[in-house]
Amino acid sequence: MGRKILSVDQYADEIRSGNRFVLSQAITLAESSLEGNQKLAQEIINLLLPHTGYSLRLGVTGVPGVGKSTFIDQLGMTLIDEGHKVAVLSVDPSSQQSKGSILGDKTRMQQLSQHPKAYIRPSATGNHLGGVAQKTREAILLCEAASYDIIIIETVGVGQSETVVRHMTDFFLLLMISGAGDELQGMKRGIMEMADTIAINKADSGNEKAVQQAQKNYQHALHLFPPVLGKPSPEVLTCSALNNQGLQEIWIYIQQFITDIKASGYFQQQRQQQQRSWMMELIQQKLSQEFFQQPAIRKTLPHVEQAILQSKITAREGAEQLLNMYRY
Ligand code: GDP
Repeated sequence: MGRKILSVDQYADEIRSGNRFVLSQAITLAESSLEGNQKLAQEIINLLLPHTGYSLRLGVTGVPGVGKSTFIDQLGMTLIDEGHKVAVLSVDPSSQQSKGSILGDKTRMQQLSQHPKAYIRPSATGNHLGGVAQKTREAILLCEAASYDIIIIETVGVGQSETVVRHMTDFFLLLMISGAGDELQGMKRGIMEMADTIAINKADSGNEKAVQQAQKNYQHALHLFPPVLGKPSPEVLTCSALNNQGLQEIWIYIQQFITDIKASGYFQQQRQQQQRSWMMELIQQKLSQEFFQQPAIRKTLPHVEQAILQSKITAREGAEQLLNMYRY
């Protein structure tokens, strides 16, 4: 294919026919900060839109070392054995071009990375979580158009990225291990509350008793959260990703969960909410981008910042001064 520039139609056709190279190119266009590339990506996505939305979007989170890549590698192979096509994307706002990303590194998922029915894409780069999230959402759509019917979105269980992934997935799995302190696992109340299910990994090598105890503790903790209308209460399951034990059961559980939330209407409602909040985010991003790009504002901003730092004006006064300069 070389560096040949494809037309929007050609991009769409190649992606639909499963050309992974062109899929990667299109995701790169969507991730690009160049306006022309972004515009092209939008045109491609628009054309492909009727072929999107049909996948199951699974979020997986957990602190580094909990076994996410081992888990996704095994689960992904189980899914492929059942006839699915699996794409793995990651959300890692700390990843930068120069450093490369830890999450989503292809070598982390050895079986999947070699399988023709799997597509692994490292996290979009950038320091701004909102930007990374937006790019990941577009990557989801592109993968769906390429007939990946299960999209796994992985994120490290620290910071705000879980919330972002929760808001782009249908099912959110929190991976944990027994024995590590709760704070160590970033197990803030909020993350547990977001989880549709907790899976305690590494239930092997004589670790089973500790896992059982942890299972009881987490189950108890989960019961303290109020139930969500139309959604089954979260469960605590156990597995050994390394030995491929318990993953089939987790997959069966997920499928039943999805069947239930489709029946109750929650699935559709959640997707609609996600679309709505994506739109809101896009508006906010676009407005703030335009604001900060205006020459007059760019020129004045450092002076206003200085004035605030020197306590000459309040933050509110500074904001108003700049907002008054903004030309719609
Ligand atoms: P990630 O950082 O969350 O992606 O974790 P990895 O999948 O890279 O796993 C971290 C380490 O834990 C690796 O050495 C894995 O081999 C090991 N590991 C993963 N799953 C299991 C498991 O189920 N049991 C045991 N004993 N080790 C595991």
